[in-house]
Amino acid sequence: MLRKIPVLIVGGGPVGLALAAELGFHGVACELVEQSDGAIVTPKMNEVNVRTMEFCRRWDIADKVLDCPFPPDYPLDVVFVTSLAGHELARMRRPGRGRQTPGPESPMQLQACSQIWFDPILRGFAEACPSVRLRHRCRLERFEPTDDAVSAEIVDLASGARERVAAQYLVACDGANSMVRGTLGIDLAGEGVLGHPAHLFFRAPGLLERCGREAGTFFLAIDRDGLWANIRVVDPVNAVWRLMALDTDGHETAETLDREGLLRRAIGRSIDVEWLGVSIWTRRAVVAERYQAGRVFLAGDAVHQLSPTGALGMNTGMADAVDLGWKLAAVLQGFGGERLLASYQAERRPVGLRNVAMAAEFYLQHEEFEYGFGSIEDDTEDGRALRRRCGEALVRGVGRMFRTLGLQIGYRYEDSPICVPDGSPAPPDDPETCVPTARPGARAPHVFLADGRSTLDLFRRGFVLLRFGAGAPDAAVFLRAAKSRGLPLEVVTLHEPEAAALYQRKLVLVRPDGHVAWRGDDMPDDPAAVVDRVRGA
Ligand SMILES: Cc1cc2nc3c(=O)[nH]c(=O)nc-3n(C[C@H](O)[C@H](O)[C@H](O)COP(=O)(O)OP(=O)(O)OC[C@H]3O[C@@H](n4cnc5c(N)ncnc54)[C@H](O)[C@@H]3O)c2cc1C
Repeated sequence: MLRKIPVLIVGGGPVGLALAAELGFHGVACELVEQSDGAIVTPKMNEVNVRTMEFCRRWDIADKVLDCPFPPDYPLDVVFVTSLAGHELARMRRPGRGRQTPGPESPMQLQACSQIWFDPILRGFAEACPSVRLRHRCRLERFEPTDDAVSAEIVDLASGARERVAAQYLVACDGANSMVRGTLGIDLAGEGVLGHPAHLFFRAPGLLERCGREAGTFFLAIDRDGLWANIRVVDPVNAVWRLMALDTDGHETAETLDREGLLRRAIGRSIDVEWLGVSIWTRRAVVAERYQAGRVFLAGDAVHQLSPTGALGMNTGMADAVDLGWKLAAVLQGFGGERLLASYQAERRPVGLRNVAMAAEFYLQHEEFEYGFGSIEDDTEDGRALRRRCGEALVRGVGRMFRTLGLQIGYRYEDSPICVPDGSPAPPDDPETCVPTARPGARAPHVFLADGRSTLDLFRRGFVLLRFGAGAPDAAVFLRAAKSRGLPLEVVTLHEPEAAALYQRKLVLVRPDGHVAWRGDDMPDDPAAVVDRVRGA
């Protein structure tokens, strides 16, 4: 008899861990296998965006992210320089979290929290959920779908022991080179390869002071040959930095790369550093043709690979995990209908396409930035004037990748088969700004309530029917319909006029992931039909 597992997650990167967290949050049993021991040597992800911070708030781990070792008073400024010790062209001020004030759109803000801290926070949360089992140094070797399960072979890399299990669902969070995607023959579509950047990690205590540079987090280097690199502080406490040369010739290797030369060019002089790691990777813009094949689902980099410009990669995967997680939970707990899981691809793939396209556009803006840089490093009137003009153009153009609130929280599940459209016009879809809307498919907007909570704090494990004002229609009939289907539903009456103005209807039904499923001023004629639609029956 094969051991049975409700959900087998392959890959313990941030997306696999987030899926385990979401399933654990719902009390659903799952097992995650990760081939490595989970140690992060050279982190990729550094920016946890607003939507991911909202998920962390929902899981009650936002404080842990806010308490990460990245110093709270350290500015997140983006700075355009000729080199770290050279001229400053422009600075986009972004306060550190100690000085951030939440905007009207969200109770949370983007945080600098490298993967070296973020992954262990997710892992700690998932591990603490009684229904979750995390198994490191374990690899999925092969799998094959059967009629009512996925048969999977797992090898324990420490002992060499092999085990076959029967998973009701298998979710591949196994990264860009996904074995699961390959085995299923799912193609990747899109622009493909955009380049071969180099990563150079090093430790350099007092680097900014030595360069006479005001603090900042992300420095973009523009010299006589144009915009060619960025330099990011990963861990200011331990003075860990990452230099990224935007492109190499495609033949270079970590061994042949002139790391000292690149460092000298980026810093503007020779300095001694402790090298921590050098690698060359491939910048891609691709999305998988399918996010599902029967009982197998794919999420994160396994289905979308983005240029890091815009910091959308992991953050897109986090929202995949939350979308798929609550749906798997609903099906395994019995109230999810037979069409619920298919809505995962319908909702998330368009977001994947949109984010991949925008990230590529941000990158191409780097490549296309052409200004005639001849005198950019000169201490002359010409040089100063060029730096001023160039700085303004950089903030306007390349700077767009740091103004992405619309991409972070403004994505909407248009045409979702499990949302009921209300015929209202869609607000503008702007990558930079988010127009809050409670249209079905959108993320239910945030507003602070009289007791200090955010409306977002109401959306956790079950559905919530919001009633606005004492005069809103009675919800008893809706509750009865939900109960008859086993759909967990809580009715919450809000009296705050700001909330009513934002949500625009007297009744708004919100899903566990905080997206609006239905809204109206009156009870629907057939509440059971609405309940069936939103639970994918
Ligand atoms: C330079 C750079 C900067 C970035 N900055 C950001 C940023 O600021 N913000 C952001 O949101 N994103 C950023 N990203 C993107 C982000 O790092 C990725 O999108 C994210 O790591 C993807 O997570 P994942 O869990 O899907 O995949 P991965 O992190 O690749 O994890 C996949 C895991 O699966 C495991 N695995 C694979 N096959 C098997 C198997 N058969 N059995 C068991 N385990 C297996 C692997 O060991 C691995 O741990 C950046 C990327 C780069 C390159």
